[in-house]
Amino acid sequence: PPRRLEKQIALVTGSGSGLGREIAIELARAGAAVVINYAHSAKSAEQTASEIRAEGGRALVVQGDVSREADVQAMFRRTCEECGTVDILVNNAGIEQDVAFDEMTLAQWQKVIDVNLTGQFLCAREAVRQFKRRGVRPEISSAAGKIICISSVHEVIPWAGHVNYCASKGGVMLMMKSLAQEVARDRIRVNSIAPGAIRTDINRHAWETPEAMRQLLTMIPYGRIGEPADVGRLAVWLASDQSDYITGTTIFIDGGMVLYPAFSSGKG
Ligand code: NAD
Repeated sequence: PPRRLEKQIALVTGSGSGLGREIAIELARAGAAVVINYAHSAKSAEQTASEIRAEGGRALVVQGDVSREADVQAMFRRTCEECGTVDILVNNAGIEQDVAFDEMTLAQWQKVIDVNLTGQFLCAREAVRQFKRRGVRPEISSAAGKIICISSVHEVIPWAGHVNYCASKGGVMLMMKSLAQEVARDRIRVNSIAPGAIRTDINRHAWETPEAMRQLLTMIPYGRIGEPADVGRLAVWLASDQSDYITGTTIFIDGGMVLYPAFSSGKG
């Protein structure tokens, strides 16, 4: 593939598994040096890094819980010390804690908001500070920096039993758009990727058995589950100058999940 991210530094949160892992690998294939972040499992983060190095790429592993301000600031400090700067932030770390609304504890509400929304705020704020300090380097990229927020189709599709998750992703949507508007003059691009159902651990129950997969596919007009590499390729494009005029937009990558598949028979 073309090495459109040569000489750029990318930080991907929660990149020891799932989408983050694949996004990190694809960014490295496009020439970026990649910072692999994890909160708790150093082993899986090291595995992502080894895979990147085995292909001749550059990877640095940095611990940090995205919901903790001091961790996030230390993570960006370390990144800038070791790599000089940061050009691309992928706000990927996210969790679900599914529970009926009337049984949801404040802790279950707060935890999901802390990681999925506040975590994206804390990382984006450090990235913007660094992008503004450094400014554009035209020989490297047309933008001073790029932020990619991993949202979800649940920034627009309501989801019973997952009110905390949907609130966090709906929050990411307008945080992303407002931030994009605020920093466009500084030549910082901010966009979201909204995945539908992609085969990772977070939704294993939804694809693990043939019956679950059959049920899932009724919600996907395109007729297949998404693979992490689908999302990895999109992240590379959004991080590169190929998408230079795009900011403040959510790109859905969902096989048509947001197209009201219940109406696809033409009845109703
Ligand atoms: P995953 O569980 O494999 O990945 C989530 C990663 O975030 C894990 O590596 C986890 O350790 C890390 N993480 C959790 N809390 C953290 C914290 N406080 N600090 C740092 N890292 C932390 O699942 P995934 O599907 O790869 O999820 C990645 C993102 O994609 C999430 O934001 C999720 O909401 C979003 N998403 C996934 C799907 C899907 O179908 N898989 C669909 C829509 C959105």
